[in-house]
Amino acid sequence: MQYVSTRGGVPAATYSEIVLQGLAKDGGLFVPKEYPQVSRETLESWRGLNYAQLATAVTSLFAKDMNRSTIAHLCESTYTSEVYCHGREGTDFSKIVPLVWLEKDLAILELSNGPTLAFKDMAMQYLGALFEYILSRKESRLNILGATSGDTGSAAEYAMRGRKGIQVFMLSPAGRMSAFQKAQMYSIEDKNIFNIAVRGSFDDAQDVVKAVSRDLDFKAEHHIGAVNSINWARIAAQVVYYFSAWLQATESPDEEVAFSVPSGNFGDILAGWIAKNMGLPVKQLIVATNENDVLYEFFRSGRYRVRDSAHTFVTSSPSMDISKASNFERYIYDICGKNPNRVTELWDELGQKGEFLLDSDEWNRVKESGFTAARSTHADRIRRIRETWEKHQFLVDPHTADGLNAAEQMRLPGVKTICLETALPAKFAATIKEAVGFEPPIPAGYEALLSLPQRVTEMDPNVEEIKAFLSSRDRDAE
Ligand SMILES: *Cc1c(COP(=O)(O)O)cnc(C)c1O
Repeated sequence: MQYVSTRGGVPAATYSEIVLQGLAKDGGLFVPKEYPQVSRETLESWRGLNYAQLATAVTSLFAKDMNRSTIAHLCESTYTSEVYCHGREGTDFSKIVPLVWLEKDLAILELSNGPTLAFKDMAMQYLGALFEYILSRKESRLNILGATSGDTGSAAEYAMRGRKGIQVFMLSPAGRMSAFQKAQMYSIEDKNIFNIAVRGSFDDAQDVVKAVSRDLDFKAEHHIGAVNSINWARIAAQVVYYFSAWLQATESPDEEVAFSVPSGNFGDILAGWIAKNMGLPVKQLIVATNENDVLYEFFRSGRYRVRDSAHTFVTSSPSMDISKASNFERYIYDICGKNPNRVTELWDELGQKGEFLLDSDEWNRVKESGFTAARSTHADRIRRIRETWEKHQFLVDPHTADGLNAAEQMRLPGVKTICLETALPAKFAATIKEAVGFEPPIPAGYEALLSLPQRVTEMDPNVEEIKAFLSSRDRDAE
């Protein structure tokens, strides 16, 4: 299988060639030339597989240039009930992504039982194993540089800690993360993880990362890479749990289900779109947004209008506080009939005017694509958390509450609707307390987290100083 860029300006490449890269050199995103197809027969034959076996089967369709036995080894070392064991008491962790029914046709897919208690661990843990394997074959090394406001950074650090050939330099805004998030990241003791608290905002930290990435000589000399949400291996790894959810929810090969997905950068729900295109029977993909409703607006009107930072709100579902959705381009590429010239035209327009509007054929294709959207406010989240607790004795985090709200608004009668749980309530104690009057339970092993010693270097958002920090650690590791 070959991968091409959504902008059409780079030669086709294989899975292991593109997974270490972020953006393609022409500014586009890598996509497979065609989506692999899974017949109903194959789908039925997957019913007996455990999660690691299912992940192997799905990944093998995307990673044609890797041995199946290598993929199996990576998946079996990643998807274990020792890694994904931090959820609710009494959960069957052997399923890795257990499906829990709240009502006859409404279920929650538990994706947040990994080490950082959020769904990003599902793909990131696999990425850690994959990168280590690829680097050892190439006898190469990688310095991952990123900026985080919380979730992505911790998921990356927990996935990469102790891995050979990999160092992580994670910039975070000093004093602006929750105590839990800080403790999670800064208490990591592994020598290959460097936490840098930048005196400034998340945007200041992000600007430093962008400036370093623009220095192509520095980037090449120090093997700088990224693990952000546009990484193809992350997207492909997320496709697996849509298959798992469907297999758990249905008994017959033709039954269609719906998914409701708390969305930000559009990576999670894009994986659902890909699963649907591969042949998974999916009736509906419900995009759940909070007050940052770029995606809601698009699916209502065909107009994609990105926001500036003054119009990006801080909400109680912070991981969905986005001004633009970085993976959205991959979906639009499909909607434009995989035409890179049209994608380039639309993104040029976006660069100039801050928005684009699809033409009527494209908009019709959006409406036929199975996507729909709903938005929630803080009050909606609080009510949903309380009601879900009172009705089902099931405590959800604010992001998952946005997903349940959207499901409630958009779901079709008689169609099983699965809401993806993107974080555990323990990560958002203040909002949970506001909703139900008590603090969420802390998973076993995390009680002492807040009192562990922390390791972090505070620095100014100064590009040269941060480059110097990185290059000296790179030399030490060489
Ligand atoms: C990252 C994240 C999201 C958004 O996922 P996308 O793939 O960016 O759409 C939602 N909820 C939580 C808790 C997250 O960490």
